[in-house]
Amino acid sequence: MTAYDVIVLGLGGMGSAAAYQLAARGLRVLGLEQFSPAHDRGSSHGQSRIIREAYFEHPAYVPFVQRAYQLWRELEQRTGTDLLHITGGLMIGRRDTELVAGAMQSAQMHDLAHEILDAAELRARYPLFQPDEDEIAVFERRAGYLMPEACVSAHIAAAQNAGAELHFEEPVVDWSADSGSVTVTTERGRYHSSALVITAGPWAGQIVPELATQLQVERIPVFWFRPDAPAPFASDRFPIYIWEQPNGRAFYGFPQIGDSVKVAQHYGSLMTTPATIDRTVHADEVEAMRAVLQRYLPALNGALAATSTCMYTNSPDLHFIIDRHPAHSHVVIAAGFSGHGFKFSSAVGELLSEMVLDPAARPPIDLFRWDRLLTTPEHS
Ligand SMILES: Cc1cc2nc3c(=O)[nH]c(=O)nc-3n(C[C@H](O)[C@H](O)[C@H](O)COP(=O)(O)OP(=O)(O)OC[C@H]3O[C@@H](n4cnc5c(N)ncnc54)[C@H](O)[C@@H]3O)c2cc1C
Repeated sequence: MTAYDVIVLGLGGMGSAAAYQLAARGLRVLGLEQFSPAHDRGSSHGQSRIIREAYFEHPAYVPFVQRAYQLWRELEQRTGTDLLHITGGLMIGRRDTELVAGAMQSAQMHDLAHEILDAAELRARYPLFQPDEDEIAVFERRAGYLMPEACVSAHIAAAQNAGAELHFEEPVVDWSADSGSVTVTTERGRYHSSALVITAGPWAGQIVPELATQLQVERIPVFWFRPDAPAPFASDRFPIYIWEQPNGRAFYGFPQIGDSVKVAQHYGSLMTTPATIDRTVHADEVEAMRAVLQRYLPALNGALAATSTCMYTNSPDLHFIIDRHPAHSHVVIAAGFSGHGFKFSSAVGELLSEMVLDPAARPPIDLFRWDRLLTTPEHS
C-alpha cells in the first residue's frame, strides 16, 4: 500500500496548479483526474481566459491576481512555454455599473495605472467599439489573456517533473477522512494520504455534499466569428474587454487568436449539471449573440467559425470558496470560482499548497471563507 502526503482530486485549472506547487515543495503527491490532461469537458478549456488587475468584483482580489501574474511568468520560464499575452483591457459601461464603478474602485484603492475614457475617447482609440454617449471605459494596460489548455498542460508537466504521480481517466467514486488520514477510492483502486485537496470544478457538489446546495452550475455558450475585415482585431491593436449593457447583462471578448475572434455572455444563461449539460450551441443562441454584437461591435460580423460550451460553478455571492472542510481540517477545498477563477489558478495552487503544509493556515482573504455562506442572514 502506497501512502501519499497528499491527494489532489481533479486536475483541471486549480488542481494541476496545486499538484505542481505541492510536488515542488517536496511532498509525495498523487493527482487523480477522471478525464484526459487539459480536456474540454469542465471549466478550463476554450483557447483563452481574460486576466486583469483592476478587479471589479472586489478590491481584495487585487494582491491575489498580482501574485498570479508573477507565478504565470515563472511557470512560462520553468516550462519554456508561452502562456500569458498582454493586450490591455477595457471595462465598458455606464459610470454607475458594477463593472465600471468596481474596476475604478480597485484601481484607486491599489493605485493601479489606469485611464478613464469617455465615449468619444473610446471610439477614437478603439474605433470598432460603438458605446452609447453616457458609457465610459476603464482602460488598464496590464490586462490580457491566458491560454488555458497550455496553462493546464504546463502545470501538469511541471508537477510530473517535480515528482507528482498523476493518474488520468481514473474517476474518484468516494473519499473518507478520519483524524490525520484520508482514503480515496477510484474505479481502479484505493489510496491513502495524510491530506486531501478537492479541486473538482463543476463536480464539487457531488464530491462534497455540503457544497451541493451552495453551488449552481451554469452552461455558458461560447462563439468564434471570422470578421470580414480581420486586421483591426489583431492582438497588437485590439484589447480584451468586458461590456456591461444597460440591461445589466455583460458580454466579453478577445482579439483575434488563430483565424477567429471569441465572444461570450457573462452569466444570464441556463443552470445545468455536468452530467446533463447540452453541449450543442443552437441557432437562436448564435442569433442572440449576433444581435448584441450588431449593436456594440458591428465589425465582428462575419461567418461563425466555431462554438463551444463551458461550465461556471457559481457560489451564492459569486466569490470563491477556498477553505478547509468544516469537519476535516486536513481536507482543503477550492470551489465556486463563479466564472472568473482561471486567471488566479497559479496563485490558488500556491495557496492550497500552503494550507496543506501548515495545518493552521486559513485563507488570507476572508472573502473566500466557506463559513460566510453558512451563516443565515437575519431578516427583520
Ligand atoms: C466560458 C468560460 C469563460 C471563462 N472565462 C474566464 C476568464 O476570462 N477569466 C477567468 O479568470 N476565468 C474564466 N472562467 C472561469 C474559469 O475558467 C474557472 O473558474 C476555472 O477554470 C475553474 O477551474 P477548476 O479547476 O475549478 O475546474 P475544472 O478546470 O473544471 O477542473 C475540475 C477537474 O476535476 C475533475 N473531476 C471532477 N470530479 C472528478 C472525479 N470524481 N474524479 C476525478 N476527477 C474529477 C474534472 O474532470 C476536472 O478536470 C471562464 C469559464 C468559462 C466556462
